[in-house]
Amino acid sequence: MLAKAGSKRISEGYDDSPATHYSWDSTVNNHAKLKVGDVIALWDATELLGLSVIEDIETGQGEKETPYCLACGKADVALRKRKLPRFVCWNQECKHESDEVGWKRKEITTYRSRHEAGWIDARGTLTAAEVRALCVQRASQNSLRELRWHDFHHALTHGGVPLPLRVIDTTQKAITDGHGTATIRVRRGQPAFRKHLLEVFGEVCVFSGPAPVQALEAAHLYSYAANGKHHKGGGLLLRRDLHRLFDLGLIAVNPRTKTLHLAGELKAYPDYARLDGAKLAVPVTPDHVKWMAKHWEMHRANVPDDLMPRQVGPSHVAIV
Ligand SMILES: [Zn+2]
Repeated sequence: MLAKAGSKRISEGYDDSPATHYSWDSTVNNHAKLKVGDVIALWDATELLGLSVIEDIETGQGEKETPYCLACGKADVALRKRKLPRFVCWNQECKHESDEVGWKRKEITTYRSRHEAGWIDARGTLTAAEVRALCVQRASQNSLRELRWHDFHHALTHGGVPLPLRVIDTTQKAITDGHGTATIRVRRGQPAFRKHLLEVFGEVCVFSGPAPVQALEAAHLYSYAANGKHHKGGGLLLRRDLHRLFDLGLIAVNPRTKTLHLAGELKAYPDYARLDGAKLAVPVTPDHVKWMAKHWEMHRANVPDDLMPRQVGPSHVAIV
C-alpha cells in the first residue's frame, strides 16, 4: 500500500515520522485495508521516501471535524490548493464548487502503524509521478492507495539506485512467521556512546581500520522481536558509508571467521572490493559476535555452505 506523507499532513494533525510510523483514520479511503505484514511505501509531493513492513497497527477512537458539501450533503469535499472557489465536491453527480462547506463532528477510528524494523530509505529512486504510475488506480486522490507490487518491486530493483529489498523480505518473513530470523538493523548511537567507543577502540573503523574521527559513527546493532520491542546490542565504531552498507546487509561479518563478506554489487567498486574477506580491524567481544551472527543469518541465508557460520542458532541454517 502506498501512503502519502508530508508537511501538509503534519499541519492537519497527523503524527508522521516516515521511517518509524504512519497515522491515518477512518475518514480515509482504504483505511481498514492495511494489515500487519503488509508492505507500506511512503511518498510526498516530490518522490518516494522509503518502504517497510508493518509490524503493528494501533487503533483507537477519536473525533474529527469533517467537511461536507452544502449542495448534496456528501462528505466528498476536497480543499483545492491553487484554484478558487476553495472547495470542490467529488461526488460525480454534484461537482459543486464553493468557498463554503458544512462541518460536522464525527466519531472516527484512528490507526497508527509501526514499521521501523524494515525501513529502507528510498529517496532518489522514484519521482512522485513514477510512483503514481505504479498504483492500481493511477488517477486516485486517496492518501492510501494500492500499489501494483510486482511492477513496483521491478522498478525498485531495476532503477538507477538498487535497494536492498532483502531487508523487506526477511522482515516480512519474521513478522508473518512470528519466529525464526529476527530483523537486525544498525542504528546510529548517541554522542556519549560514541565518545565511549572512541575511548575503547581509538580512531579505528572496525571494518576498514584507522579513520578520521569525523568520519566515524557509533553503530548499535538492534533486534526487532516479534513483540515489537527492540534490544540494544554491541556497539561498534564504523566509517559512515560502511555503517550504512552494513545496516542494509551489503556488508556482513562471517561470525565464524570474523571476516567481511561483501555483496556482489559492492565488488564493482575497488575501494570496497578490497575489504571482501578482510579481518576485523579491532578485537571484538563474544557479544558483538552474537549480534554479527544474527545479522549474518538475516542477510546471508543463501551464501555457499563453506562460508556459513557453524553455530548461529535456529535449525533452518544449513550446517556442514
Ligand atoms: Zn456535492
